[in-house]
Parts: sequence; structure tokens; C-alpha cells
Amino acid sequence: MSKHLIQLNSVQPSCQYRLFFLPLLVLITLCFMSMPGYAETLHPQWLQESLDKADKLNDKNPVLALEFTQDLLANHNDQLSTPGKAALIARLAEYQYYLGHNEKSLKNIELFYTLSPDLNTFDGISVLITHGGILDGLAKPKEAMKLYLQAEAIAKAIESKKLLAETYGSIAGSFARINNDSEALKYYHQAYLHLEAIGDKLEMAYLKIQMSISYSNIFDDKNAIKLAKEAISYFKNNEYIFDELFGHSTLARIFMAVKDYDSAITEYQQVMALSQQVGKDSLIEVAYIGLAKAFHWKKQHDKARHYFNLYQQVHQHSDSPFAQIDDLVLSASISIAEQDISSAVQSLKYADELLLTLEKNSVLSWRIKVLDLKAELAIFNQDYQSAFQLQKEARKLVSSYQNIEREKIRSKYKVMFDIDQALLQNQLLERDKQLDKAALESALQQQRLHSLVIAGISLFALILTFFILRQVKNSKTLHKLANTDTLTELANRRYTFASAEKLIVQAKISKQDFTIIIFDIDHFKAVNDTFGHTGGDIALKTIATIANIHVRNHDILGRIGGEEFLVVLPGTSVQQAYEVAERIRHAIKDKDIMLKGKVVNISASFGIAQLAKQHDNFNQLFHQADIALYQAKDSGRNCIKLAQ
Ligand code: GH3
Ligand code: MG
Ligand code: MG
Repeated sequence: MSKHLIQLNSVQPSCQYRLFFLPLLVLITLCFMSMPGYAETLHPQWLQESLDKADKLNDKNPVLALEFTQDLLANHNDQLSTPGKAALIARLAEYQYYLGHNEKSLKNIELFYTLSPDLNTFDGISVLITHGGILDGLAKPKEAMKLYLQAEAIAKAIESKKLLAETYGSIAGSFARINNDSEALKYYHQAYLHLEAIGDKLEMAYLKIQMSISYSNIFDDKNAIKLAKEAISYFKNNEYIFDELFGHSTLARIFMAVKDYDSAITEYQQVMALSQQVGKDSLIEVAYIGLAKAFHWKKQHDKARHYFNLYQQVHQHSDSPFAQIDDLVLSASISIAEQDISSAVQSLKYADELLLTLEKNSVLSWRIKVLDLKAELAIFNQDYQSAFQLQKEARKLVSSYQNIEREKIRSKYKVMFDIDQALLQNQLLERDKQLDKAALESALQQQRLHSLVIAGISLFALILTFFILRQVKNSKTLHKLANTDTLTELANRRYTFASAEKLIVQAKISKQDFTIIIFDIDHFKAVNDTFGHTGGDIALKTIATIANIHVRNHDILGRIGGEEFLVVLPGTSVQQAYEVAERIRHAIKDKDIMLKGKVVNISASFGIAQLAKQHDNFNQLFHQADIALYQAKDSGRNCIKLAQ
């Protein structure tokens, strides 16, 4: 709330408005304070920062994280929103589980489920994993697995590699608890690959510890010791005392398993020193019981008893039946060594009761130990028959135990194979991804190339079209120029003669009429002489235009000499040609041509010839028409003569 007041006070109105604004600000502030829920809800950012702080504390020391979270809940319970409360409760449950306060953790898990029924969140997954862990501890692996699979599905859906790794780690842990270490290692490695992908070194170190335990269980001591040492050195260098402590206790157990009791004692002593440093007696019991066992196996019974007593002084009741049996078996065995028979009998009785509640095959080694110890007691009591029966029973169990152990040794090689397979699969997936990427890139490149080629071709086609069109236009112009008379714009002599030659061939084939008219302007020299060459040109152009009006579209009118014209008339009889000639002659004669301001009348003479069988080519026909023209000239001009 003070944060809001500071923000409101930070408004600096100019002097003349200040008197008005100050009471208004006070009023607004009072309104905000009186609004329901305003004072009750904590700022979400503040809550997030507190949650992050709790998580960081948990990395270093879950005891501090638990106390911090409990304080938060106690001091701000009324100010928390429901999701905020659920987030804190989820953490509380997690830290309590880490510290072995399983019943309290379970209560908080139930509370979380009521506060936040939708589990599709980060907190939801965490709670499912914690809940699974507790069920595993209560020897309910099937129920635990259901929760882990639910967590896995959500982690996959929200694409959280970290939580997926955590889920696989828990599944692996669950398998490890029921002594299926080869299956456990498969999941541990899956979790490890996810953590490696996000570079979470701390979680990787945690996994190494758990993997080392499973490796040890399948007698791969080399890997077990190597991984535990790597993890311990990471914890030490980064001052994770609590985890370093756990690392040493793990390594101690591995040394115990390989009967290297001296190394185990060194590790347990480290556990003891670090526990004292952390200041929590609850952690020191691991060291005490470990030292008790190590000295017991070294047959140093007084030291074994010393540490076992220390253990019993600090030991809080364990929730795990396995741990309880382990304690009872050790207790019985120390008691026998000390010849304290009644204590031994009592311990074995409790152990027997506990063993009956558990699945037989998962507790074979303890059952054998209990039978062995009972046989020892029977021998002590000189009841040899019972001792014999007990040993016989134990031997039977040993053979099935050996089978399981042999299976475990086989598991060692199976794990090696599985891990190699997983790595290979990962490499293949990676290569597939790279190939996909390369294929995509080359497809894109090809697409770019295609576009470029298409653009190039389009441009080329455009240029080509442009050139072709220009060429066509040019050739048309050239064609026109080559066939046209520049002065009159009629067909020139070359074109008129060539066309006439072609049309004659067609006319002969189709046996159609074909006639030509030649006309020549009369006394044109005189026109030139009177009105000059320019005047003559005007007259020529005028006559060309007049003549053109009287020929049909498919006829050809050409200027074939200075003032000589030829009309080619396909499909035209001599009579029809005569009519055309007559119309042209009249039109020329009747036209008043203005030259130098004077009206001039010009006439022309015409010769007509029709295609006949005797004509082999155009020249022969033309020659006849020319003769007719001269006849017209001779007959006084301005008239038409037909070829004979
Ligand atoms: P005729 O009636 O016998 O045909 O008499 P004519 O004067 O027309 O005689 P001819 O055919 O011998 O003369 C043609 C004249 O046409 C000669 C030439 O100077 C003139 N001529 C030819 N070509 C052109 C031209 O392009 N422009 C002009 N203005 N005159 C031309
Ligand atoms: Mg003439
Ligand atoms: Mg002439």
C-alpha cells in the first residue's frame, strides 16, 4: 500500500493547481483504501520474487526454504490470492517432502488440489511429482507412476524440458526403489539429456548422484564411484553443502556395497562434519548409522554400538518401511555380536512383522539376513534343528536372490546397450533435424533460384517481344517503303508488276477473268513547263487520289512510270474494266486542279487488255495494253482503247 501512496505523491502538479489537487489526492487514496480487496491482495511481482527466493534457498538448504515459506504464509495469509496461496502451498509440500516430513507434505498436497484443481501448470506438475515421490516412499509404485505419467503429459504439453527431466528423474527413482535399476537408468539418462539441453548443471549433479546409486546396484561400481565423485565436486565448488552431504553419504553406501569399509568410513565422517556445519541433528543420523554398519562389518563391535546408540538418540521415526527393516536388522546383528539375545529377538520380531507387509521379492536380501540371524540365535540356543531349517530356508532364498543378482549383472550390460541406443537415437534425431534444416534451406534456395529464373525469363521474353514487335514494325515499314511510291503513296512499279504476276497465275488456275488498265497523263510535259516540277507533282498526287477512289479494295493501282499508271483488276471482265477506266477518265477530266492560283484541267489516255489463253506471262499482257494506250494517244488522247 505504501508503494501506491508513494506513486500518488510523486505526481507534481503546477503551483496554481496544487491547492486543488492535494485534497483530491487524499480523497482518491482513501477511496482506494476503502475498496474491497485492495488491502488484502499482495502485489503479484512481490509474490513472484518471494517464490523465486524460496526456490533459491531450497537449492542451498531446504530447511531455510521451508522456514521462509512458512513465514510468508503465516504473515500474509489474508493478503494472498488463491493462486498465490496455491503456489506457496506447492512449495511447502515440496520442501517438506525433501526433508522427510511426508505426512505434512501430503496434507499440503491435498490443500493444493482443493485450491488449484487445474493441474496444467508448473506448480501442478511439481505437486504431482512430489505426491508421486511420497507414494513411492510408502511402497505404492503403481499409484505413483499414474501421477508421474500425468505430470509427463502436462510437461510435454507446456513444453517444459526442466519439468520433463524432473518427471523422468522421478520415474527413474520409482523404478530404482523397486530394484529395477536397469529401467531406472534408462529414465535417468532421458532426464539427463533434457537437463544437458537446457544446461542445468545443478540438476545434472543431482541426477549423477541418483544414477551412481543405480549403477552401484547393478554392480557397475566404476561408473557409480565416478558419477558420485563428479557430483560431489560440483556441489563442493558451488557451496551446496546439503547436497555435498548427500553426495558423500551416497558414495559411502557405494563403498559399503563393494565392502571397501575404510573408504566408506572416510565418506561417512565427511557426512558427519558437514551435518554439524549445517547444524541439523536430523542429518547426522545418516552418518551415525553408516558408521555403525561399517564398523560392524569390520567387526569393531564397540565402535559399531557407539555409533548405533548415537543414531538412536537422534533418530526420528522413519516413514520408509525399508529403512526401518534396515535399522532393525543392523540392531539385531549388533545385539547378537554383543550376545544381547533378548534385544536381538525383539528386533527380529519387528523386522518379521514389517517384512510381511512388503512384496516378498523386493525384500529378499533382508529376508535372508533375518533368517541367517535367526539361525545364529538358534545355534546360540543350541536348537540345531531349527537352525538347520532356517539355513535351508535361507539357502532357497539365496538361490532366487542370486538369480535376481545375476539378472542385475545382465542389467549392467543391458543399461550400457540401452544408453548407447538412446545416444545413437539422439544423434540420429539431431542429424534428422540438421537434414531437415538443410533440405528446407535448399528448397528455399531452389525456390529463390526458380523465382530468379522466372523473373529472368519474363524479362528476356519482354525484351524479346519488344524487339520482335520493333522488328515487325520495322519490316512492315521497310516492306511498305519498298513497295510504295513516295510521291503518290500508291504501289510502285516493282510491287504492282510482282502482284500482277502472282494474280495472273491464280486467274489462270481458277479460270477467272483478269484485266489490266494502263493510263498515261496527256501533255504532262506542258504542265511541268507551265507550273514547274512542284506543280507537276501536285497534279500527279491529285490524279493518284482521284484514280484510287474508283478502284476496288482487291484491285491494285500502281504508279509504274513518271505519269503512267497501271490498274490490275482480278476477276474483272474487259467490259467491267472499261467502265472503271471510263469513271477514272471522267473524274480526271472533270477535276479542277489548282496550280499557282490557276484552275488546270488535265486528261489521260487509257489502254485495256484482258488475259487470254495466248498470254504466257504478265509482260505479254502488259505489252498489249501498252499498244492500246498508244492507240489512244494516237486517236487524240483523253480516250480508252482496248487491245485487239
Ligand atoms: P503525251 O501526251 O504524249 O504523253 O505527252 P507528254 O508530255 O506527257 O509526253 P511524255 O510522256 O514524253 O513526257 C512525260 C513527262 O513527264 C516528262 C517528265 O518531265 C515528266 N515527268 C516524269 N516524271 C515526273 C515527276 O515525277 N514529276 C513531274 N513534275 N514531272 C514528271
Ligand atoms: Mg504523258
Ligand atoms: Mg509518259
